[in-house]
Amino acid sequence: MRYESTRDRENKVTSAEAIMRGLSEDGGLFVPEVLPTLPAGALEELREMNYRQRAVYIMKLFLADYTVAELTDYVNRAYSPRGFDTPKIAPVRKLDGATHVLELWHGPTCAFKDMALQVLPYLLTAAVRKNGEEKQVCILVATSGDTGKAALEGFADVEGTRIMVFYPRDGVSDIQKLQMTSQEGTNVSVCAVRGNFDDAQSTVKEIFSDPALREQLAGSGWMLSSANSINWGRLLPQVVYYISAYCDLVNSGDIAMGEGVSFCVPTGNFGDILAGFYAMRMGLPVKKLICASNKNDVLTEFLRTGVYNRVREFYTTISPSMDILVSSNLERLIYELTDRDDVETAGYMAKLSTKGCYQVSDRVKSAMDGIFAAGSCDDEETKSVIARVFSRYGYLIDTHTAVACGVLEKYRAETGDDTPAIVVSTASPYKFCASVLEALGRTPESAGPELIAALENASQTAAPAPLKALLGKTARFNASYGKEELKEVVRNFLK
Ligand SMILES: *Cc1c(COP(=O)(O)O)cnc(C)c1O
Repeated sequence: MRYESTRDRENKVTSAEAIMRGLSEDGGLFVPEVLPTLPAGALEELREMNYRQRAVYIMKLFLADYTVAELTDYVNRAYSPRGFDTPKIAPVRKLDGATHVLELWHGPTCAFKDMALQVLPYLLTAAVRKNGEEKQVCILVATSGDTGKAALEGFADVEGTRIMVFYPRDGVSDIQKLQMTSQEGTNVSVCAVRGNFDDAQSTVKEIFSDPALREQLAGSGWMLSSANSINWGRLLPQVVYYISAYCDLVNSGDIAMGEGVSFCVPTGNFGDILAGFYAMRMGLPVKKLICASNKNDVLTEFLRTGVYNRVREFYTTISPSMDILVSSNLERLIYELTDRDDVETAGYMAKLSTKGCYQVSDRVKSAMDGIFAAGSCDDEETKSVIARVFSRYGYLIDTHTAVACGVLEKYRAETGDDTPAIVVSTASPYKFCASVLEALGRTPESAGPELIAALENASQTAAPAPLKALLGKTARFNASYGKEELKEVVRNFLK
């Protein structure tokens, strides 16, 4: 199976090329030429498997260039007991009869980004070899907080690669910042950007599409690639946990095989929920995908009205990984919902970049209505959800997961839909100690990793080991740059 660009269907590449290049040169994103479907009986087979086996089975449906033996090797190394603190890898926890939480933060950096970024380095370095490419790969990452650390952890000291991470200087939590700036490894670099996540992301996109820079770097033996969720190798491992969670609920007797479930997903760049959309298109019985936003509710408005308008105030919230106004992966959704009309998709994206705004056709809008619901929670609501869930279930959730729990409550109240639902939990509460403590009615008295012990005390739960290990670590990277300096920073890193 080949992949094609969302802005030019004739631009076709192999799966290995799509993963190696990250973004298509025409500015589009790579998507599978034909979306595979789950073969008859697949869910019955998958039920009997463990997480790693499920991952190999599902990924193989999309990756013609990789053998089962290769994928098995990558998955065993990625989802290993060294990196993940539970053999279930992505366990589902029951809150009440109809509400479950899919915990995606048991990996080395305690956020769901690990689910994909532990696998991506293997997929990517193999892709480079499969393409007969001699150059070394430099990974550039724009991060709203969690991707950066997960990518650093995935690529640190991987031979033939370097990785450079850009994060918004004032847009990440103390713990997130220290996680990144204390990263070890000889091939890594971390830069603060004076601006917000959209500034960092749009500059990285510009760097990718600068032919002069590309040529210059090629001359010195380097090619650029992306570990952001615009890379197909990032999305694909995420499809796995939707299907896996469904199988787990069948196995636990909470749902019957074939019964519909809904997923409620805290959303920023639209990568996570898009993986759920692909799982649904493959044949997973999904009733609704509920898209949860914080006060930056551009997606809520879009899914409700069909108008995407990024020209609006940007808010810094207590769920920083969702502080995004331009959700890159929406382009892949639109491509599917226009029935793969590259001209229509490219037209919307052109309007987005020139006018900051576009409205999808009635056909796309009504297709969205059948699949998605959407809602948002501001910071006050988010904190009250954390307190409520903790007092009701003794279960501590982070600020992003809380947005999704809050949106699910509102959705149920508004629609009366009581379909069993799975809230996708994207981070450990210990990544956002200060906000979680405040939600529990405590006043944080210190900052950074010292708060971990305070939260352990307040909640009588245990922090994940990798976060506890941050205490006493110091930053290796302290520089911050304006966006106009970033090209030069990349050049210098690869000298
Ligand atoms: C990245 C992230 C999100 C948003 O996921 P997208 O794929 O960008 O929509 C939500 N929560 C957390 C904790 C994250 O790290």
